[in-house]
Amino acid sequence: MVTSFVRTVHPARIVFGRGTLETVPEEVERLGRTRALVLASPELAELGDRVEKALGPLAVARFDGAAMHTPVEVTTTALEVLREVGADCVVAVGGGSTTGLAKALAVRTGVDQVVLPTTYAGSEVTPVLGETADGVKTTRSAPEILPETVVYDVELSADLPVAMSVTSAVNALAHAVEALYSPDAEPVTDALALQAIQLLARGLRALPADPRDLDTRSDLLRGAWLAGTCLGSVGMGLHHKLCHTLGGSFDLPHAPTHTVVLPHAMAYNADAAPEAMRRIAEALGATNGQDAPTAVFDLIGRAGGPTSLRELGLAETDLDRVADLASATPYPNPAPLTRDGLAGLLRRAWAGERPA
Ligand code: NAD
Repeated sequence: MVTSFVRTVHPARIVFGRGTLETVPEEVERLGRTRALVLASPELAELGDRVEKALGPLAVARFDGAAMHTPVEVTTTALEVLREVGADCVVAVGGGSTTGLAKALAVRTGVDQVVLPTTYAGSEVTPVLGETADGVKTTRSAPEILPETVVYDVELSADLPVAMSVTSAVNALAHAVEALYSPDAEPVTDALALQAIQLLARGLRALPADPRDLDTRSDLLRGAWLAGTCLGSVGMGLHHKLCHTLGGSFDLPHAPTHTVVLPHAMAYNADAAPEAMRRIAEALGATNGQDAPTAVFDLIGRAGGPTSLRELGLAETDLDRVADLASATPYPNPAPLTRDGLAGLLRRAWAGERPA
């Protein structure tokens, strides 16, 4: 069969390993930069200290105010610091929230970014930025948003608490799953997605018994990078749209929402994307003919992840409005989007039922 596809490559340098934090000065110099603004969040100030120390005289200022959903007020304050000290690059350490701040500064000033991710969100390898102004989240994409260099240091993720690690890894899994049934899917993203699923599933199985095991952390971080690369390359479907609505309009937490919704969004699409589901089930290592959505549901359950939107704080009375918002604007998805279908999916996800 003749296939046709388009592939866009996003130019970024990836440094992956253990103890790679120490390479950050080299990476800044490699970009031809000499004045770094170090970015962190209040909770991860200690990691900010380590990065600042590693950078030595290359670090000219520090901003620890990164916050969830990249509020523009925070960006404005950070921008003042950046301009005051004449920084020519940012070095960000943290999860998707800190990466979001780095991107927000880069898109406004053109400064280069070196990002050290500590979660599995994958934002560091996408040219996409979501920002919040007056409670409204908008998303944009541009080449200058993509960080120039990503330094993955497996040791930095070893302290991510188990509950956050599980939800963040399922957030990554969702990128790989939706890449496989994206209308933009092509051979390279297919290969990346399948490898990501294998690594993330293996990591999720091993994590609870020994959360600080660096081989497990390496599997998860490598899976997160591959899955994030898929997110940056192809369009996502129902699952990501639903999570965007639940996070943006109902303030539900990003990674836990992905964790609850994924098996249900997969079940919704299962009949319309049978080949993708077969490949996902195989990559997950599903046994006894188990289907992909229930295999993901059980993987999450065994790792101790959340299984209901109710436990994340969504009111039952909001379900109708979520279904309205999620079916308001059409977008590509394997199964046709019907309001009734989405309402059923949401009700099951709210109650924590097995996917159907
Ligand atoms: P986050 O960055 O807010 O981090 C979640 C929590 O984990 C925070 O409390 C943080 O302090 C803590 N944490 C992070 N690393 C830690 C570590 N190593 N040890 C201990 N605690 C640690 O959340 P996230 O899930 O990484 O990112 C979510 C944000 O990123 C959302 O705003 C989302 O929209 C955005 N995002 C964007 C993209 C994109 O492509 N633009 C992709 C994925 C996520």
